[in-house]
Amino acid sequence: MIEKLLFELSSPGRKGFSLPLADVPARDVEELIPKKLLRENPPALPEVSEVDVARHFIRLSILNHHVDKGCYPLGSCTMKYNPKINETLSRLPRFLNLHPYQPEDTLQGALNLMFELGEYLKEIAGMDQITLQPAAGAHGELTGLLMINAFHRRNKKPRSKVIIPDSAHGTNPASVVTAGFSTIQVKSNQKGLVDVEELKRVMSEEVAALMLTNPNTLGLFESQILEISKVVRDAGALLYMDGANLNAMMGIARPGDMGFDVVHFNLHKTFSTPHGGGGPGSGPLGVKENLAPFLPVPMVAKRINRKSLAEYYLDYKRPLSIGRMHGFYGNFGVMVKAYAYIRQIGAKGLREVSENAIINANYLKENLKDYYNLPYDDVCQHEFVLSGVKQREKGVKTLDIAKRLLDFGLHAPTVYFPLIVPEALMIEPTETESKESLDEFIKAMIQIAKEVEENPEVVKSAPQNTPVTRLDDGKAARELNVRWKRQE
Ligand SMILES: *Cc1c(COP(=O)(O)O)cnc(C)c1O
Repeated sequence: MIEKLLFELSSPGRKGFSLPLADVPARDVEELIPKKLLRENPPALPEVSEVDVARHFIRLSILNHHVDKGCYPLGSCTMKYNPKINETLSRLPRFLNLHPYQPEDTLQGALNLMFELGEYLKEIAGMDQITLQPAAGAHGELTGLLMINAFHRRNKKPRSKVIIPDSAHGTNPASVVTAGFSTIQVKSNQKGLVDVEELKRVMSEEVAALMLTNPNTLGLFESQILEISKVVRDAGALLYMDGANLNAMMGIARPGDMGFDVVHFNLHKTFSTPHGGGGPGSGPLGVKENLAPFLPVPMVAKRINRKSLAEYYLDYKRPLSIGRMHGFYGNFGVMVKAYAYIRQIGAKGLREVSENAIINANYLKENLKDYYNLPYDDVCQHEFVLSGVKQREKGVKTLDIAKRLLDFGLHAPTVYFPLIVPEALMIEPTETESKESLDEFIKAMIQIAKEVEENPEVVKSAPQNTPVTRLDDGKAARELNVRWKRQE
């Protein structure tokens, strides 16, 4: 099932348009365009009909798996279905045609939207101030860490280390190093949570912050968070929350109430932009007052003008700011979608999103734990982690199980992460999957577990029903060849 390129579908003389001939006198083209700039041969464009084009792109769109086609249970990355209306709203001509250099008084609607989105996010996370500038989760992390650095320097006590649990997302240590700190790893305890005694042991005057994901990447809520936050505070350090997994928490608990000084959001996971599409993201950062002076410029601000009307403006007068983190004001289209999403479902709806995400994950976990090893058997939040160690004993790797799922028209979960679980399968169904689609996933996973017992070859040679079978991952990344050359 290989889809030819439009160039290969081309047939001489075929057209995708039919326009009447121009009824204005033809001017000599060379009069308008100097001869040396004119082509000698027409461009080698594909000659195809409208039907050819439409069918070509429809066929292409279903070759790959995507969230509009089926369940996409990637752990940590929250691939949920997002309402299409938000895409439409973010493309309204009055948003789409704005220019960032327009004067503020012609941008009042856009600034109003950004300001209000910030207010909602502050409320959801229990934070005092916000920036919408960062373009992704990792970018939010970097911004937060640079601010933490600025905070300690301002207090004349620069600190050089950041503590990260061994279950952390890979972007955490990467951001820490990019921001100029070094990392200290803290081990998880047997329950998969931060070991508080171990934390006390590694805590010192050199530690600038503890960076924590809550719920953590095992899908478990850090139940000792108040104690953890006290250990951090007593040492004069700050507490950073990786809030990419906020899908489990909205309307139920707030990082700000747990003692976090700073949290980043992933609008492109939780708030109506699918993650991983390669398009723009947005990683706003909420902070407590202690970090507010260091926020990037400009900040979207509100004042009451002489006519007693609310007016929005960009505030650049922030002497302690770490500076700019993004050209202009961040990825506005993503903000429009997030704003529309929050306004549509409201506070009650956000809480329901999180409750259903948690119920769905626990439903899958309980139905699968007899077939796969469940290393941390506890009530989970929005995701949980299975281990394929039992299957590995039969010679079947987690990668094989992931590939076999594709044969059932399902996307595989995240595999081999978090690193502390061998043969990890990290599953996050999200709130947008119905009971029927969860049952379909369970059925496929159980069948695969049976195949491992009875006929492991079928799993090891998967996938068979996909447009391409197993690819050489290494070669695909290192020897990528996406250029097509016309045969002369
Ligand atoms: C996705 C994710 C990130 C990074 O977000 P990006 O937008 O991909 O940079 C960080 N931490 C966790 C826990 C995540 O799931």
